[in-house]
Amino acid sequence: MDPRANDRREPPDPPCRECRHYWITYEAQHPWGCRAFGIASTRLPAAVVREATGKPCDAFDLKERLRK
Ligand code: SF4
Repeated sequence: MDPRANDRREPPDPPCRECRHYWITYEAQHPWGCRAFGIASTRLPAAVVREATGKPCDAFDLKERLRK
């Protein structure tokens, strides 16, 4: 196996649930939202961002309570 194979992999999407921009809308039609991008969807916001931009979200910001 080519040792450089990992270099060509797409970087993973950031974990929205650990991001301070993530919120739960409690709307059945679009339960998960992102305040940074102003979106809400049935999918995690990072997946929506990747689909729209072709790149992983670069606005991830770890929630304060998860910081050490
Ligand atoms: S800023 Fe990025 S990581 Fe944070 S909730 Fe939005 S899409 Fe997810």
